[in-house]
Amino acid sequence: MLREYFPCTNEGASLYNGFLPRKNLFCIIYEINGSPAQTMEEINGFLEANGYAKALTEEFNESSVYVKHPVTIAPHGKLNQLVVSIEKDIAAQSQTEFLINELKKFRAERDWDQFHNPKDLSIALSIEANELLEQFLWKKPEDANLEKVAEELADVFAYAFQLADRLQLDVEQILLRKIKHNGEKYPVSKSRGSANKYNEL
Ligand SMILES: [Mg+2]
Repeated sequence: MLREYFPCTNEGASLYNGFLPRKNLFCIIYEINGSPAQTMEEINGFLEANGYAKALTEEFNESSVYVKHPVTIAPHGKLNQLVVSIEKDIAAQSQTEFLINELKKFRAERDWDQFHNPKDLSIALSIEANELLEQFLWKKPEDANLEKVAEELADVFAYAFQLADRLQLDVEQILLRKIKHNGEKYPVSKSRGSANKYNEL
């Protein structure tokens, strides 16, 4: 839902059929095909499904604009369109964004931003993934030191999040999209209990 997972890219916004005219502002346009009341019902369905309070038609002011932070509804361009704008509020910051901000704060304090290009972040991520493997080398899986495994796993996450941020990719959106894609590649009916690759199912 939009309130919890506010998109940070237009691609992410398009999953909600909207767009981001600027960072932290999501917009979605509604055509008034039938009656305006019917369109408001549609808009309210969208607002409710995404964690926002319903708009009350009687709260539209004389210029036909509804403003109840963070939601604004106003006529758009052509007369038969309404644009719903939703500003991101602090509560909408996801756990992932919080973590990325913490990583960026750490990086800025050390002036390491200059080294964090996509190539070097990818290399660092791969090195950390190998340090994670090292924890299991020559051991039974259960004999690996969990504390060291956690440390290396955290390094992997740190570089993965910073790489996504550098490439302006929305971690939640790309991960959800991949889970959906993998679900199509590995339908439960064929893949349940099988470790085979999708082309050998
Ligand atoms: Mg490490």
